[in-house]
Amino acid sequence: EQGKIEQFKEAVAQCNSIVFFGGAGVSTESGIPDFRSTDGLYNQKYKYPPETIVSHSFYMQRTEEFYEFYKDKMLFPQAQPNAAHKKLAELEQAGKLKAVITQNIDGLHQAAGSKEVLELHGSVHRNYCTKCKKFFPLSYIVESKGIPTCDECGAIIKPDVVLYEEGLDQSILTRSINHIAKADMLIIGGTSLAVYPAAGLIDYFHGKYLVVINMASTPRDSYADIVINGKIGEVLSQIEV
Ligand code: NAD
Repeated sequence: EQGKIEQFKEAVAQCNSIVFFGGAGVSTESGIPDFRSTDGLYNQKYKYPPETIVSHSFYMQRTEEFYEFYKDKMLFPQAQPNAAHKKLAELEQAGKLKAVITQNIDGLHQAAGSKEVLELHGSVHRNYCTKCKKFFPLSYIVESKGIPTCDECGAIIKPDVVLYEEGLDQSILTRSINHIAKADMLIIGGTSLAVYPAAGLIDYFHGKYLVVINMASTPRDSYADIVINGKIGEVLSQIEV
């Protein structure tokens, strides 16, 4: 693996328009479980599969159970950015990286200092009243009992998170495609590439180096110029900026 890391380091040194595309595996080293690893949420015994609970229809029909699961399993207000988030922020600061496109909803890239962060699936940090649209921070949801309701009008609050059965924000998709199409290196990291349409975005890449850094194999490994099977924080921390 070390030989591939050296190859990756040399490629990074040559590139000036790097885009990172990531998923839940980027935050496991911050203590947030992913969905599809063996200790991920999908392998825990729960009354319903997570795809069912974290869906629009479940949220509408069984709001209380949705919030029970969401608050217990998907909110990690104490989590801190790890070495991966920090290195990506440094690469952007140095002018080498143009954007982080993430499927994560935890806000850790921004917490690490990244500026151009495209959140394909929204963020737990933004929550809005479904009636009067008042904004609420994550702390309001964490401190609420049962279903969180608006302190102005009493209506239910919904997190600005894309649930299964819901569409992605078109302007975020367009910006993501533009970044990927212009990139000279695309680093795919910490994602099983199982969730569409997010995973389909990487088809817009026509640059020099396609790099995959992931613990498990992915459906795109065979197309990649460099595949590193390792922990993303450990791998990225070896990059010199
Ligand atoms: P996933 O769970 O399907 O896949 C995670 C992948 O990351 C796996 O292939 C695993 O081998 C790999 N991985 C885990 N830890 C790693 C590490 N330290 N270094 C390198 N690779 C590692 O996640 P996904 O592809 O992002 O899809 C799941 C969906 O769930 C996404 O849409 C996302 O919105 C959501 N989700 C988000 C969070 C979060 O915000 N932190 C957490 C769980 C799930």
